Amino acid sequence: MPSSKPLNLTDELQRKFPAEVLSVLQEVGKVASQMGMTAYAVGGFVRDLLLGTPTLDIDIVVEGNGTSLAQKLAQMWQADLTVHERFFTATLQWRLKEPVSTIASAHACILSRLDIATARKERYPSPAALPEVEPANIFDDLWRRDFTINAMAICLDPTRFGELVDPTGGFGDLQQGIIRVLHERSFVDDPTRIFRAVRYEQRFDFKIEPKTLQLICQARDESFLAKLSRDRIKHELWRILQERDPTKPMRRLSKLRILPVIAPELCVTKERLEWMRKANEWLNWFAEKFPEKTLEREWALLLPLLPTYEAVNSFSQRYQLGESERECGLALLKALGRRTPKRPSGWVRWLNPLPLEAALVLAAKRSSPNDPAWQRYFLEWRWARPDITGEDLKTHGITGCAISIGLQAALAVKLDEGADARRQLEVALRRAQQCQTSRR
Ligand code: ATP
Ligand code: MG
Repeated sequence: MPSSKPLNLTDELQRKFPAEVLSVLQEVGKVASQMGMTAYAVGGFVRDLLLGTPTLDIDIVVEGNGTSLAQKLAQMWQADLTVHERFFTATLQWRLKEPVSTIASAHACILSRLDIATARKERYPSPAALPEVEPANIFDDLWRRDFTINAMAICLDPTRFGELVDPTGGFGDLQQGIIRVLHERSFVDDPTRIFRAVRYEQRFDFKIEPKTLQLICQARDESFLAKLSRDRIKHELWRILQERDPTKPMRRLSKLRILPVIAPELCVTKERLEWMRKANEWLNWFAEKFPEKTLEREWALLLPLLPTYEAVNSFSQRYQLGESERECGLALLKALGRRTPKRPSGWVRWLNPLPLEAALVLAAKRSSPNDPAWQRYFLEWRWARPDITGEDLKTHGITGCAISIGLQAALAVKLDEGADARRQLEVALRRAQQCQTSRR
C-alpha cells in the first residue's frame, strides 16, 4: 500500500520533457479544475516516464466529463476534435501544416495528438466480449486496466500536480521488472491481454510473474482465445510485429503454445526467426533510405514464418488480408527457388516483378543488410530505366509487346555494360525486331 506521502514526479517531468509539454499538462490540469474536474495522465505515459524512456503518447483521464474538457481544450488550442460518445473518449489532433496563432496552441501541437477519456468502470457481460462502461473515479479506472505497470496515474490538478497515483503496486513491479494482472479473471474478461503481457515482457526484458503466467496458460487451455474476433487477434499480432525486435515476443508466444492456437500456419523455428530478424533489419535499412515509401512491414515480417503456398493462402484467408498481400507471399515463395543471378539484368528480371516487401524478405534470406550487391539492387538497379523510350522504338516501326521486350533489352545493356543511349537503341531494336519476326 502506498506510504503516507505520495511520490511527486514534477521534477521527473521537468527533467525528461521540454518545457512545452509540461505547460500543456499543467494547462490540462488547470482547465479541468476550473470546470470542476480532476485530470490525470495515465498508463503508458507514466510507465515510460518512470522507466526513463519518456513518450509523447499522452493519455489523459478525467474524473468528470472528458468530452466537455476535450471540447474546451480543442477550442482553446485550435485542434481537431473527434469524440467517441460510446466509449467516453475524445482525441485532439493538430494539423501541423496550419499556422498556429497562439503560444498555447504552439505548445500543445508539439504533441500532434492528445487522448482524453472520462474515468470509468468496466463490466464484462461475458468472456472476451467488449465491456459495458460507466463513469467512475480514477481508482476504478486504474483497477480496470491490464497490468500493474500500466495502472498508474499522475495527477494534473494544480493543487496536487505531479502526484503519483498507484493503487495496484505498479511502481514496485516496475522496479522489479514484473508483469502482473490485477485480478484472476483478467484474461477471461479480455484475452487480448495475453498478447499484451508477452509484448511488454519482451519489450522491457521483464518477467511475467508466476501466477499471471499460470492464468495465461489456463486461459489458453480453456480456449478463451477462440472467443476473440479475428480482427482483435490480428490487431494484437500486428502490434507485436511493430515492436523493435518482434522475434522476441513471437518466440515467447510460440513457447507458450499460443501461436498454434491463433495461427497454426506459422512455422516458428530458430532458423525462421533468424530470417525474420534479418527481414526486420532489411526493412529498417530500406525505411531509412526511402522514408517516403510505405511498406506493409507487419506482413513482410510474417512471411519467413509461412513456409508453403497453403500456409500463405490459409493465413491470408483467416485474417482476411487483401489479394495483394496474398500474392506477395506467393511471389516470394516462387522467387525463393531461384539462384542469385550474376549480372544486374538478372537481378532486375528476378526481383523487379516482386513487391518490395517480398524482395526485402528475400534479401534477408540471402544476405545481411551490409551486402553491397543487394544494397545496390535496392538503391539503384530496382529503379533504373533505359535512356530510350517506347516512342523511340515506335518511330522505328516497333509495335505491341515487342516494345517492352526491346526496352528490357536496352535496360539490360545499360546495367550490365554501361551502354550509352545509342547502343541501348541498337540493342533494343535488334531484340524487338527478332520478336516481331518470330511473331509473324
Ligand atoms: P504502448 O507503449 O504499447 O502503446 P500503452 O501502455 O500506451 O503501451 P495502449 O495500448 O496505448 O498501451 O493503451 C493505453 C493504456 O490503456 C494502457 O497503458 C493500459 O492501462 C490500458 N489498456 C490498453 N489496453 C487494455 C486492455 N486490453 N485491458 C486493460 N487495459 C488496457
Ligand atoms: Mg500507447
